[in-house]
Amino acid sequence: MTDVVADLLSDTLTRPTLAMREAMANADVGDDVFGEDPTVRALEEHVAGLLGHEAGLFTPTGSMANQLGLRLHVAPGRELVADQQAHVVRAELGAAAVFSGITSRTWASERGLLDPAGPMSLVTTGVGPYQVETSLVVVENTHNFGGGTVQPIEAIREVRAATTALGVAMHLDGARLWNAHVASGVPLADYGREFDTVSVCLSKGLGAPVGSVLVGSADAMAEARIWRKRYGGGMRQVGILAAAGLHALEHHLERLADDHARARRFAEACAAAVPGVIDPATVETNIVVLDVGAAGTTSAAFVEALLAHGIRTYAVGPKAVRLVWHLDVDDAGTEAAIRAAREVLTTD
Ligand SMILES: *Cc1c(COP(=O)(O)O)cnc(C)c1O
Repeated sequence: MTDVVADLLSDTLTRPTLAMREAMANADVGDDVFGEDPTVRALEEHVAGLLGHEAGLFTPTGSMANQLGLRLHVAPGRELVADQQAHVVRAELGAAAVFSGITSRTWASERGLLDPAGPMSLVTTGVGPYQVETSLVVVENTHNFGGGTVQPIEAIREVRAATTALGVAMHLDGARLWNAHVASGVPLADYGREFDTVSVCLSKGLGAPVGSVLVGSADAMAEARIWRKRYGGGMRQVGILAAAGLHALEHHLERLADDHARARRFAEACAAAVPGVIDPATVETNIVVLDVGAAGTTSAAFVEALLAHGIRTYAVGPKAVRLVWHLDVDDAGTEAAIRAAREVLTTD
């Protein structure tokens, strides 16, 4: 097998740095099911503070953080509405339905970009016993399958104003909210305060090996803590993992801008080779989704050809290939990816 030169499969692939491992090794720990792990508590408080919320809850995965958030807001038989490419409806294996009896409806979008008309055309309230009542709007920022799309704060505020008037809650799937913040300059708390609950991942571009945090009101997090235990997510001396998250937030947040610049450089090179595979202006963060159909090829063929050059990528559709930049891909890896993609895209 060819050696991997640049692994652009996902930003979940990052390995903890030596400094992060040292922070983990030195962490103070206790039994977190009894609420006695000081490092977990520090992480929960820190993230809640960053996002402008009262309390936080550490979870093993982003999916669990999302699912706890969803069930807090939606009673069985009621519905949530989300973008049709949202992680909560596409990549959590029906968990909202399986665990919480939640039904879902979705709106269509361009690149996952939030247009308030999308959710507001679906939200249904005050219909008595005849139709399903909407309890929750889910927004994903950045939008993963949409290509790392940053949601405009104005659009979020418009949906928030409209849903508040109807008594409908909002949950933010902020797995990559860090990237949205670094790309847009919008403070994390400005995004955070428009939502009742927010989930964030520490294990994507930030580079922690494991972990997410859900934030919300103190009451909501107390309830989520009970459900986390019920789901089997109560963990013990887990401060060693929380320490990785705290280290990542201190040392790896601002550098996300480097990932964004490399992704943009790659997109510009691809567009220069074959206009139509990508509009570089749409590459705002660390994710590039190429339309390889515009170069007359398929995802399967493109992924295989790049792999022969040591570049791992991911087919997200028959003609769509996703590449994700992160802590473990440098300038040299980016240049190698550019050379390989250029060659593959321009060879018929
Ligand atoms: C990665 C991701 C999650 C959480 O995924 P886990 O693998 O469960 O940690 C949630 N939402 C989005 C948009 C993601 O990209």
